[in-house]
Amino acid sequence: MDFLPIFLDIREQPCLVVGGGEVAARKCALLLRAGARVTVLAPSLCAALDADLAAARIAHRVASFRQEDLEGMAVAIAATSDQAVNRAVAAAARARRIPVNVVDQPALCSFILPSIIERAPLVVAVSSGGASPVLARLLRARLESLIPAGYGRLAELAGAYRDRVKARFKPAERRRFWERALQGPIAELVFSGRDAEAREALEATLEDTRLSFSGGEVSLVGAGPGDPDLLTFRALRLMQQADVVVYDRLVSQPILNLVRLEAERIYAGKERAQHALPQEDINQLLVRLAREGKRVVRLKGGDPFIFGRGGEEIDTLAAEGIPFQVVPGITAAAGCASYAGIPLTHRDYAQSVVFVTGHMQDGSMNLNWRSLAQPRQTIVFYMGLVGIDVLCRELAAHGLPAATPAALIQQGTTPQQRVLTATLESLPDLVRRSSVKAPTLIIIGEVVTLRDRLKWFEPAA
Ligand code: SAH
Repeated sequence: MDFLPIFLDIREQPCLVVGGGEVAARKCALLLRAGARVTVLAPSLCAALDADLAAARIAHRVASFRQEDLEGMAVAIAATSDQAVNRAVAAAARARRIPVNVVDQPALCSFILPSIIERAPLVVAVSSGGASPVLARLLRARLESLIPAGYGRLAELAGAYRDRVKARFKPAERRRFWERALQGPIAELVFSGRDAEAREALEATLEDTRLSFSGGEVSLVGAGPGDPDLLTFRALRLMQQADVVVYDRLVSQPILNLVRLEAERIYAGKERAQHALPQEDINQLLVRLAREGKRVVRLKGGDPFIFGRGGEEIDTLAAEGIPFQVVPGITAAAGCASYAGIPLTHRDYAQSVVFVTGHMQDGSMNLNWRSLAQPRQTIVFYMGLVGIDVLCRELAAHGLPAATPAALIQQGTTPQQRVLTATLESLPDLVRRSSVKAPTLIIIGEVVTLRDRLKWFEPAA
């Protein structure tokens, strides 16, 4: 993060704008919206600034910039077309530690102005840190369409009740109260313009002494194979409401970055043969956290019910009477296959697909090789890297042709994704020579050949 996002109170504060053109006028308008007292320093003013002056919204001085002009200013903006003047303003302001913005010159700025979406009193600010203002504006446009116009009034309503709710509920309960109020029927009433009814509903909820917001709960959430874009909306919402997140090694950092900032994060590990926490301890941990009244998100790679031991975790929760829900995720097979351009089934090549774990108990793999080694079937091995020799050998021994196409996908759907393609016979050797990093997925079957036609969609390595 190159800039610290903050919201500055400049009400009634003197601010200086150097420059009198259209750009200066836009910055001026922004300062005025935030209640500043603006002085414009420029030889002449554009029409918009002239109008501001006529309406006594700004003060105007016809002079060239001198350091003394910064005296007592809360903020300075340089918006002239003369780069020497802009630089002089920036240097003088920085020397006096006055926040300064130079239009279109991020290197000279001590602060930059984000793109904003305003639903007063609510303001959303978007910034690319100066890297791409156009991208920030595009994102802003998308957010505009996402945030209902009534959000400002909803924020006002919440502001009006803030103290009473604070007095009525303990902190954890309070947050839950607001989350229910702000995204349930009360919010919907505000969005449809029925503010009075929303107020009544809020009053009623506040008066209802039976309400309890103290119970904890656990959500078993599938985080997908790595790319944060593959999260479900529900996963994201729960991650942003969580008090504590218990996560696996497979959950990628970009996904963890989407967890509510204040949430506690507990690493539950699970590396091959090096479990950070034994499964039984994880089960008990979830129970304990929920009993403490917390909203627990158990974040797992891929889908919780596919080689995720999700079944065992909810078994314990059910036995202990803890409320829980399971949120499906995109499993590694689905994510890796599409990002590698390998359809798992295909009318001409495969009518079935099987997901198998290649995790070996004491060095042996007890799989039904005969049923796996079927024609027109795709086999996807999870956790197959260590046993790759055994599984390729057994499949061949049980009738799969040595020339059957095979692929290994490393760190699928992430920027580090790598795809190795070979045959059943040559894959183990290729993998040995290629210093592969976990996690990896192995796909075996004719569908792998389709990758040559479809790989154009692979994200840049
Ligand atoms: N519940 C998970 C699977 C957990 S088992 C899911 O539904 O995807 C862990 C195995 O999943 C890893 O050993 C690897 O085989 C596979 N895997 C998970 N994420 C992967 C990724 N991004 N790329 C390749 N393989 C992955």
